[in-house]
Amino acid sequence: MQRPSWVIEQTLDHSKFNCCGNEKPFPFKCNDCGHAMVLCCECDTLYQGLPDTDQRTVPDWNEWTCSACNAKLPDTFMSLPDYRITFDEWSKLGLDSLISMPPFSDLQRMLNDSAQRLRTYLERGMRSTANRYAFHFDDLASSMQSAIAGAEDARHQGQQFADDKKLADAVRQCDTISDPDLRTYAIIGIVDVLRGDTKNGT
Ligand SMILES: [Zn+2]
Ligand SMILES: [Zn+2]
Repeated sequence: MQRPSWVIEQTLDHSKFNCCGNEKPFPFKCNDCGHAMVLCCECDTLYQGLPDTDQRTVPDWNEWTCSACNAKLPDTFMSLPDYRITFDEWSKLGLDSLISMPPFSDLQRMLNDSAQRLRTYLERGMRSTANRYAFHFDDLASSMQSAIAGAEDARHQGQQFADDKKLADAVRQCDTISDPDLRTYAIIGIVDVLRGDTKNGT
């Protein structure tokens, strides 16, 4: 079965998470002890005693800790590969009831739609908007990458397009890729370079 390489927001059963009405549940594991948790990115509610979704807390600002081992979570844990949790790990912890797996084609459509928006931002030179927007679907894109043949190469290709070129020109180069999935990963590659630039403050 084609599926993402790790548990992502889009594979959770959203009806199980009720905190703020605008739930954006981000699944992850503690890098130290493997304990699985879900953080609502909208209201900062931490579901810490899964599968019991009534066990929850809103941690203090800058005080993200694992509820099982007390390890401190780094501020950037949501983008660190060590905090991803695979479906096997998730399953072994008895959490399958929290999964609602959409067809892979639905996830692809979601990703391609997001890439289209991203393409528009890039073409207009809206760097920070593109950057912020990309942050929210980076997990989706990265988790699906190894299930889509050629995606990794397309992403590298996009990164090359973005080097030494104006954004709009790099975007137009992506347009020459006819496969919609691969075109999506090329656009993501451009954003990779953009985010690198942003980190360097340029
Ligand atoms: Zn919430
Ligand atoms: Zn832990």
